[in-house]
Amino acid sequence: MTPTGNQGDHTSVRIQPGATIGVLGGGQLGRMLALDGLRMGYRFVTLDPSPDAPCAEAARHIQADFGDIEAAGRLASMSDVITYEFENVSLEVVEKLEQGAYLPQGGHLLHMTQHRLREKDALSKAGIPVAPYAKIESLAELEQQVALFGGQGVLKTATGGYDGKGQRMIRRQGDAEQAYKELSILGAELVLEAFIPFQLELSVIAARNSDGDIATFPVAENRHADHILHLSIVPARVPEAVQQEAERLARQIAEALDVVGLIAVEMFMTADNQLIVNELAPRPHNSGHYTMDACMTSQFEQHLRAICNLPLGDTTLRTPVVMVNLLGEHRKDMLQWLVEDDAVAEKLHVTPKLHWYGKSEALPKRKMGHINLLASDVESALQWVKQTNIWRNQ
Ligand code: AMP
Repeated sequence: MTPTGNQGDHTSVRIQPGATIGVLGGGQLGRMLALDGLRMGYRFVTLDPSPDAPCAEAARHIQADFGDIEAAGRLASMSDVITYEFENVSLEVVEKLEQGAYLPQGGHLLHMTQHRLREKDALSKAGIPVAPYAKIESLAELEQQVALFGGQGVLKTATGGYDGKGQRMIRRQGDAEQAYKELSILGAELVLEAFIPFQLELSVIAARNSDGDIATFPVAENRHADHILHLSIVPARVPEAVQQEAERLARQIAEALDVVGLIAVEMFMTADNQLIVNELAPRPHNSGHYTMDACMTSQFEQHLRAICNLPLGDTTLRTPVVMVNLLGEHRKDMLQWLVEDDAVAEKLHVTPKLHWYGKSEALPKRKMGHINLLASDVESALQWVKQTNIWRNQ
């Protein structure tokens, strides 16, 4: 392949079907990207250290560490365009690749979203509402700052945290010391955020192509269990004005941060309907999996359209939907459910669509798949979740 080179102006470059897309990271996001892209006529090559990376069933696979510059060079030599499917790929590798290969998302987004403080600084600078926050370098500083935030807060590592890892709630006397002890040994910089008493968590996924066109997907209402996404409910059960504001914020972020590809924006909604942006992810996102069956265009196709600089697809919601994540502990019940007659679905007029990632080991809390429940209203889909009892206490 001839890398197009990342120097110069790529606004008019269109990567057409037939081209090869290199994907840094071979998890389920890469797999679903490749599955959609194969339908569109693209070819895929992925770099991932795991011998059974989910994406490897749909792509050529370079099995190597994310920091392996030589292997990344091989990926570049086989690719017309390179993307990443998770944000903890090595920045050093991405910056190196940018010198000779075409990475339309660019290293700048990765650099920013890999680090909570940098991300919050960039959002604040762009006029986006975020929770009050402060960098923490000692226990004394933490205690002082917690007091300034009204005696509560959330201490987070600036790097490396996901699914609730690397964060501690501070609610009462003594919590700060414990939190500081547990997180400071991880060696990462720390940030304290004010505790936001939110009513709901929402997310919006926006896409922007190199020409600067932007499209947003409908707002998802997200429920977490044990810090892992449990449900995405769409349409979100919030006033129309909140939905519009959420999409407007996502659009503003995509523009201000010069995004190419997808940007997932997680937000809190407070009791007085204010939105506060919590976190960004510059890639397809778990809370956008509902788009696969419920929207005119899936988030994966949209990401490909954006990085290939094609016209963006229609994001209209075709049907109400609830996405439920399937973790290792749900595997047995889910597969059992699937092979039996689903009388609950029939009674509730719900159509369950299964997405299974092909991971060989079903460890507890590991994301194994998800199910999109299509229904005439989200309440029926939520009833299915309750009545099947696969998720028990959640
Ligand atoms: P994060 O890793 O930043 O996505 O946070 C994980 C979860 O912790 C969020 O989905 C919230 O449920 C909760 N959380 C994080 N930050 C805050 C905050 N500042 N105030 C209240 N809850 C938070």
